[in-house]
Amino acid sequence: MDDFLLDYGYAEYLDKIDELAKFRNEFVITDPSLIYMDGNSLGRLPKRSFTELNNLISYQWGDQLIRSWNQNWINLPISIGEIIAHLIGAKPEQTIVSDSTSVNLFKLVCAVLEIQNNRKKIISDMMNFPSDLYILQGCIKLFNNKHELILLPSEDEISMNTAVLLDAIDHDTALVTLSHITFKSGYLYDIASITQKAHQVGALVIWDLSHSAGVVKISLDEWDVDFATGCTYKYLNGGPGAPAYIYIRKDIQNSLSSPIWGWFGAQSPFKFDLEFKPQEGIRQMMCGTPPIISLQAIQAGAEIILEADIANIRKKSVLMSEYMISLFDSYLSPLGYSLGSPRCSDRRGSHISIRHPFAYQINQCLIAEKNVIPDFREPDNIRFGLAPLYNSFTDIWHVVNHMKTIVEEQRYKKYAHFRNNVT
Ligand SMILES: *Cc1c(COP(=O)(O)O)cnc(C)c1O
Repeated sequence: MDDFLLDYGYAEYLDKIDELAKFRNEFVITDPSLIYMDGNSLGRLPKRSFTELNNLISYQWGDQLIRSWNQNWINLPISIGEIIAHLIGAKPEQTIVSDSTSVNLFKLVCAVLEIQNNRKKIISDMMNFPSDLYILQGCIKLFNNKHELILLPSEDEISMNTAVLLDAIDHDTALVTLSHITFKSGYLYDIASITQKAHQVGALVIWDLSHSAGVVKISLDEWDVDFATGCTYKYLNGGPGAPAYIYIRKDIQNSLSSPIWGWFGAQSPFKFDLEFKPQEGIRQMMCGTPPIISLQAIQAGAEIILEADIANIRKKSVLMSEYMISLFDSYLSPLGYSLGSPRCSDRRGSHISIRHPFAYQINQCLIAEKNVIPDFREPDNIRFGLAPLYNSFTDIWHVVNHMKTIVEEQRYKKYAHFRNNVT
């Protein structure tokens, strides 16, 4: 790479021409020197959420009390679902917000296994988020161990050989379920071709969009996806524990049934009928009372993404990750670091994993001495979430420079191998 492209001045130049730079001002930033690169685990707090939640707590809850249910609370799972629908390429009445991603996945997997009753195989991969795999294991037990969970391995722990995956999907496959972007390496699956293959042999697909919504273009309707779910507290900036969304393609909504029948999924909750009758369509996937405070917190983050436009966000995300990889090649690769993410940007999401034998200690040193927050994923990945709405090119330059000096000066040696509860 040309030397000037490695200079700090070039990072400053990239920031100067960055059309999304102004969006940083949409977020609460209490420590301007903090380089926050964990937006793929917990996004920053939008200023508008701060205002909206203050209003919700002081007026809607504090003053209006139960009257607020009829004013707007009762429709929030649907109205916020419709905002998210724009981010995932879904026409109306296919997306609602309810429960966590894990619980939504449970509901979807049970619903699929019920209608795919003669098929034995469930296909996923070893890069999938463990909670998703636990849900699958639990569902298999619930269905009396009739199914076989096939977890395809990744040869390099970074990417998937698509031909092997497509080959594994056959007429005995009930379900294919994968993360659109894998949580460790950031590998980006091609939803369209995998969904197409699944449908050719009569299998159904559930895509987990937790690491992709808000940073890559998603076109669920166009790709003919059956089901999807994903969380809202990562790149959507919905706040800790904010509920997840669930998508079901319109034409299959009424041919399946939620495994959890609660009053919010029933036709008229306030008639208090003794017998459950599901609501029409996607609404039957609701269960109990929605968590209004954290539900409201999702709205502003999702709206900001729509304003910034996902095409612009993806463009900047690719530029950022390419920039980080070129700095990695020049400065970090000679120091024992290796790249834990795909090199090809078509197959890469918005985070970069960098591996090192002393990754855990380096991560601790970045946090303690350099005011940088990435996160760590076993066994040796330091993960950098590149959030185009508030991260800058100079952020990336600083991070790489810190990683270089931490190893050159062996500063990581001060830090123990001992793992904290949340890494
Ligand atoms: C973060 C994440 C989740 C989170 O699940 P919750 O049930 O909301 O805690 C699920 N799947 C993937 C792929 C994730 O990255």
